Amino acid sequence: MAAQIIDGRGLAGVVRQEVAARVEGLVARGVTPGLAVVLVGDDPASQVYVRSKERMAGKVGISAQTIRLPSDVQPEELLRQILALNEDSSVDGVLVQLPLPSQFSGGVEAEILGQISPEKDVDGLHPLNLGKLVAGEDGFVACTPSGCMRMLASTGVDLTGKRAVVIGRSTIVGKPMAHLLLAQNATVSICHSRTVDLADRVREADVVIAAVGRPELVRGDWIKPGAAVIDVGINRTEEGTLVGDVAFDEVTQAAGHVSPVPGGVGPMTIAYLLNNVSLAAARRSEREGR
Ligand code: NAD
Repeated sequence: MAAQIIDGRGLAGVVRQEVAARVEGLVARGVTPGLAVVLVGDDPASQVYVRSKERMAGKVGISAQTIRLPSDVQPEELLRQILALNEDSSVDGVLVQLPLPSQFSGGVEAEILGQISPEKDVDGLHPLNLGKLVAGEDGFVACTPSGCMRMLASTGVDLTGKRAVVIGRSTIVGKPMAHLLLAQNATVSICHSRTVDLADRVREADVVIAAVGRPELVRGDWIKPGAAVIDVGINRTEEGTLVGDVAFDEVTQAAGHVSPVPGGVGPMTIAYLLNNVSLAAARRSEREGR
């Protein structure tokens, strides 16, 4: 039987409604949630993502601004902008759109992202928030893994005792994803570019999260019958179409649930960004006693 498709677009609409309701309550108490996105350079994909974040923020009542910096901006200038946003009381969430240009390589990027105030770190990339995730404490969790967890929850699959394989070990997707699955009592393996026998590791999995960036890497005959498969990958083919890391047509023949690309994780990531901004504003409202 063909897999059930996890409708990320529809589910993102539900998350946005929840966020909009929280924002309405905050606005009634005089707190309008604010998001500041910093965009460096003119990478076309980043421009599309940033526009879509702005548009979706507006839809749920979050006030969004984008700070555009030239591609040759020096790290000191980006840092100056971040420190100013940390001090700006109308800004609850600060997000630096990745990837950054080459002058930020060699550890500079991580150093700069670490300067975002942990209370405004809606991307969940500050070491303090990463540490809280590992320690099982409340903090900000990266948006894409949060969206994936909600998608898994929507399938009704109980993760306790299930074998989960996360393919990809990035700080923004793979590693936080593994910790969220662990927190739900799954038995988690993280696979990566040096993993030997990737297909065999995936064949053991009841839950597969593919976050690699290799078009259709995960094949149908890798999938345990009935497994839940979440495709995080976004890859553009030579013809210009978007495909995920999962060979969708093959995998739907074996999986129990599978998320499509587009219309899967992408909209959920933005919905959870808005969720994090609304949570940051709710925490500000508590701190200010409003
Ligand atoms: P990344 O490049 O930082 O990490 C990729 C990971 O894949 C690495 O850990 C690497 O070890 C692993 N890898 C590479 N080749 C492999 C192979 N052949 N076999 C197994 N593992 C391999 O990327 P990222 O930022 O984690 O993003 C991963 C993908 O997810 C990309 O396609 C990206 O565009 C997409 N993405 C989508 C969303 C969304 O909202 N849908 C959000 C973030 C990232």
